Amino acid sequence: MSETADLPAQARVVIIGGGIIGCSTAYHLAALGCNDVVLLEKHRLTSGSTFHAAGLVGQLRTNANITQLLGYSVELYRSLERETGLATGWKMNGGLRLACNEQRWIEVRRQATTAHSFGLDMQLLTPREALDLWPVMEIDDLVGAAFLPTDGQANPSDITQSLASGARRGGIEIREDTEVRGFEFDRDAIRGVRTSRGTIRCEKLVICAGQWSRQLGLLAGVNIPLVSVQHQYLVTDKIAGVPADLPTLRDPDRLTYFKEQTGGLVMGGYEPNPIPWAEEGIPDGFNFTLLDNDWDHFEPLMEQAIARVPALAEAGIRQMYNGPESFTPDGNFILGAAPEREQVFVGAGFNAFGIASGGGAGMALAEWVHNGSPPFDLWPVDIRRFGKPHADVDWVRARTLEAYSRHYTMAWPHEENRSCRPCRRSPLYDRLRTQGACFGEKLGWERPNWFAADVDSAIDEYSYGRQNWFAAVGEEHRAARERVAIFDQSSFAKYRLAGPDTARALSWICANRVDAAVGAVKYTQMLNPRGGIECDLTVTRVAEDEFYLVTGTGFASHDFDWIRRNIPADCDARIDDVTSSWAVLSLMGPKSRELLQSLVREDLSPRAFGFGQMRELRLGGATLRALRVSYVGELGWELHVPVEFALTVYDALMSAGGDLGITNAGYRAIESLRLEKAYRAWGADIGPDYNPREAGLGWAVDLASGKPFIGRDAILLQQQAPIAKMLVGFTIADPEIVLLGRETIYRDGERVGWLSSAGWGYTVETNIGLGYVRNPGGVDEAYLRAGAYELEVAGERLGCELHLEALYDPEMSKLRS
Ligand SMILES: Cc1cc2nc3c(=O)[nH]c(=O)nc-3n(C[C@H](O)[C@H](O)[C@H](O)COP(=O)(O)OP(=O)(O)OC[C@H]3O[C@@H](n4cnc5c(N)ncnc54)[C@H](O)[C@@H]3O)c2cc1C
Repeated sequence: MSETADLPAQARVVIIGGGIIGCSTAYHLAALGCNDVVLLEKHRLTSGSTFHAAGLVGQLRTNANITQLLGYSVELYRSLERETGLATGWKMNGGLRLACNEQRWIEVRRQATTAHSFGLDMQLLTPREALDLWPVMEIDDLVGAAFLPTDGQANPSDITQSLASGARRGGIEIREDTEVRGFEFDRDAIRGVRTSRGTIRCEKLVICAGQWSRQLGLLAGVNIPLVSVQHQYLVTDKIAGVPADLPTLRDPDRLTYFKEQTGGLVMGGYEPNPIPWAEEGIPDGFNFTLLDNDWDHFEPLMEQAIARVPALAEAGIRQMYNGPESFTPDGNFILGAAPEREQVFVGAGFNAFGIASGGGAGMALAEWVHNGSPPFDLWPVDIRRFGKPHADVDWVRARTLEAYSRHYTMAWPHEENRSCRPCRRSPLYDRLRTQGACFGEKLGWERPNWFAADVDSAIDEYSYGRQNWFAAVGEEHRAARERVAIFDQSSFAKYRLAGPDTARALSWICANRVDAAVGAVKYTQMLNPRGGIECDLTVTRVAEDEFYLVTGTGFASHDFDWIRRNIPADCDARIDDVTSSWAVLSLMGPKSRELLQSLVREDLSPRAFGFGQMRELRLGGATLRALRVSYVGELGWELHVPVEFALTVYDALMSAGGDLGITNAGYRAIESLRLEKAYRAWGADIGPDYNPREAGLGWAVDLASGKPFIGRDAILLQQQAPIAKMLVGFTIADPEIVLLGRETIYRDGERVGWLSSAGWGYTVETNIGLGYVRNPGGVDEAYLRAGAYELEVAGERLGCELHLEALYDPEMSKLRS
């Protein structure tokens, strides 16, 4: 029903968009007791993408917390009708996923293992068993299938109306026929929303406007990198043999999906050549509107579908849907607090799984809006995962079309994006390329993953076994352990913090003691008030009132935002992103000192230049910053070089290092080297859901000095309770086994966690996995040592060894040599 009465003059929170995401956020805000909220919809509820969704609700994703969000949706949809009295069409008929070749079967088995890791009962089936569940399909080409009994389907419009009804009951106002046209800010803080019916003053804004969100974001000064892409499916008349409880079906080798609908089938898919829509902007009045059918484009999918379900060839087509939906460059949705503004939140870009995610995403976003932080770590969907290239809509569109086209293709381990490359290049790019660098990409940066013998063989060949780069990376690894290796890490995010109160500000933000002498390099975490690890980086004091911060490439926007927001109001300290000013050459290995000393006059002896120190060095005309730190566990320096000198310094090192066996090395070697050292990676092994004690990083938290810092109170409280989970290492020596991460950990036959990261250690010659062992009753060394452990790899349980310290140089003698 349309509510057209005068708008309230003000509301604490304004939500834009009456699709499933806006309504779910409103519903959950009401549940949190936050009901001074107005939801504005320019037309009618569901009139955007929601009304034409097919309604499949799958749960499994590659990340535990996103899977948990989708699982929350299922729980909510089960109970919503009871609560609101409005039907949702929810049916828990389960979901089937097919595999038609051996590699896909490995992928599906690995997905089942991931599901087990995250607590979902995904069952592996023979083709015959799959046929019993889905009697109208051909199974001649099937190798196997996986079945997730708790997946299901729902009616998208009904769920949305049901959520809206729950929100209204909770006191939230929903205004249809009210278009948002602009915003009012006081500096960066949202103050009001201008609409077709007048202005509402507000304290918080939530943009849930589906494919319109990017344009609204621009009006609000917020970048929301999504674009519209066409998506088609058809609905058939009744088909004999299709029962009402037919599971949903995904047939990725045929790029198609199915669900039952009134005795017939819904069939859609992901074309390899997706069609973008509304490149010049979404036309006015595009509500409850579909695009013209494009049979030519759909035909290849139809052929694939008929081969799977022959009855489709004869079935009458009741309706074809061609609806646009917002997609994103990495196929994940966009949630959270916009870094450009204060109190502006986003929930958009749902990549054709907004119905599946709607319940959980609305819950998480409501908590974010109400409490200022999400209920748990949501990094894979966090709006701060984007970076500079994502401001260019043409770049975003090209990358998004690639992501769409790969929705059902094999998700190979270590697979790299192909579109929009090369984009951001270090000064060494061409030099390294001609030496055989095979590049990967992160936030637009080209980064050498490994080095092939020549330019022509610098190509990844993907498989679920050992890939073609395995031996080459071994050589690079050994160079770093035995001689000297050089890594181009110019893509590191780097910030300059300066001003008279910088030391005080950083002391408050960092858990470790960073207020040290000029020239000190400190490894530190930045914690949230719950003691969770928000950032993991090095902080170097370059002057009394100036610090230089270095963090991972992918965390550029996130860490900048965290630091900027947490500089206390009474501190005169300013943060600038200086990433583009500095190239980074990491020179690592036992011969790195000998090499570097041969080129500089400054004394590099252990006494003069110890671990954890920064000195300025002069080399080839450049004044560079040499940081004695290492993520690979060897004697070495990160050389931070002004970009225009980078090639000169690189050439000088390569030329002088020839006799010492200097070797170009890439990120895959770094991964292997750091796993041997059990160095943690943020986003995998550590993050906001883990505190330093659980992560084994308590040594980097400065409680002793008594200095105040964010998270200190939480850490002190945690110290009085048992540890619920602890990060440890596991090994499986068999080189035929490939560990990739997310393998399930069993202790004495009980599931206790999953691997957060994994790979091969070339020095220790074994598979290495890091992961948390969880136990609500507490985990300590005795508990850990008392258990017998197995890892589930692609559906098979294998014995493994537990390790409580680093496999390589646990006493850190190499690092400090
Ligand atoms: C063909 C197709 C099939 C799909 N199948 C599935 C499926 O099987 N399972 C699944 O999980 N997902 C599916 N989806 C995806 C799903 O439809 C979307 O992810 C979901 O509907 C997105 O919801 P939303 O609330 O973000 O956006 P929308 O539903 O588009 O809602 C956004 C709302 O914002 C309003 N709005 C925009 N601008 C303004 C403004 N200036 N002022 C006020 N209001 C404004 C719009 O009118 C609109 O109602 C499918 C999508 C398509 C296209």
